[in-house]
Amino acid sequence: MISAKVLQQLAETHGTPLFVIDHDEVRSNYAAFKKYLPRVQAYYAVKANPEPAIVKTLFDAGASFDISSIAEFLVVHENIKDMPEKERHDWILDNIIYANPIKANETLAELDSYKPLLTFDNLEEIKKIRQYAPNSRLVLRLRVSNAGAMVELSSKFGAEPDEAVDMILEAEKEGLSVEGLSFHVGSQTTNFENYVQAIDLAALIFREARERGYDKMNLLDIGGGFPAPYDESVRPFSELAKRINAELDRLFPADIKIIAEPGRFIAGTAGTSVSKIIGKAVRHGKLCYYIDDGVYHTFSGIIFDHCRYRMGSFKEGPTQICTVFGPTCDGLDVISMTEELPSNLERDEFLYSRNIGAYSGATSTWFNGFPPATVVHVNR
Ligand SMILES: *Cc1c(COP(=O)(O)O)cnc(C)c1O
Repeated sequence: MISAKVLQQLAETHGTPLFVIDHDEVRSNYAAFKKYLPRVQAYYAVKANPEPAIVKTLFDAGASFDISSIAEFLVVHENIKDMPEKERHDWILDNIIYANPIKANETLAELDSYKPLLTFDNLEEIKKIRQYAPNSRLVLRLRVSNAGAMVELSSKFGAEPDEAVDMILEAEKEGLSVEGLSFHVGSQTTNFENYVQAIDLAALIFREARERGYDKMNLLDIGGGFPAPYDESVRPFSELAKRINAELDRLFPADIKIIAEPGRFIAGTAGTSVSKIIGKAVRHGKLCYYIDDGVYHTFSGIIFDHCRYRMGSFKEGPTQICTVFGPTCDGLDVISMTEELPSNLERDEFLYSRNIGAYSGATSTWFNGFPPATVVHVNR
């Protein structure tokens, strides 16, 4: 963890709003994922935080990548662009999955020469893939329970389990190859049962496919959703991993390749925001701090990620419940109405917020003319 003192020095050196990325934390989260899930190849979900330096740190550590747009593909590709042609194609084959089940024609056409691993979950997509990316290798995304996840995805994506094998056979009839199954249990899933149920369901569908004559599946993608330790209520990752490993070993023989797409787990604890108090007022008897970062910027996860962030100050003092507002003119730009902060903070002093590395700067805008936070990279 980067100390408060270092955060303050960085803010003084670089100005605010500041977004500090701790690359040692990125490396250690990736290492923990590998350690506790030794059978699982980790494809970092680039959308969680697409900073090219994070992607490079993970590439150097040996990670694979989950992408969902050409722009994300190019961020990853930057790391392999100097490889010889054959080696580069082989690397993409083994290390990239395009995990957005719905893809534009142009995207498919652009990726086809790489024989990309692609997810799909509906019949229309099969026709599109056959036309624009006939060389791709398919993974069928299943709809699974997202109960208890902070961000739910099951209403937007996933084939119904009872239609899954029909869809696999339909893709085969169209000359496409379905290599496996995937699911996403919902982001920041603290309900570990979701993984167990989803793995069990996938095993049933593997079996049904075999029984109906389709035996070409050799891949299971257990998706993302692995929770970041935002607070004490999140049980340890080792506990979740133990349950996943037991279920995988029970149901999937060693020749089935297992992959996952962790995003938040890798990036969440690796980002810290430092902002400056630019205004201070008392409204309806409540102390309000106005800072130079907000929900249109680094704190966008409050809106898009259903996330809440705690704030801290470098100065100590008697505390009270305060409101913290962002800098724009929009009434929506509220970071917290219930933040316990010292009441003696002055204009030009700093506030900081840890564990804001995922789905934060990634969804930042230029609304009201305020630019996104400056990013600094720290290797401890
Ligand atoms: C967003 C997403 C992920 C990453 O999810 P996390 O909850 O951040 O781990 C993985 N796979 C897919 C398909 C996604 O859409």
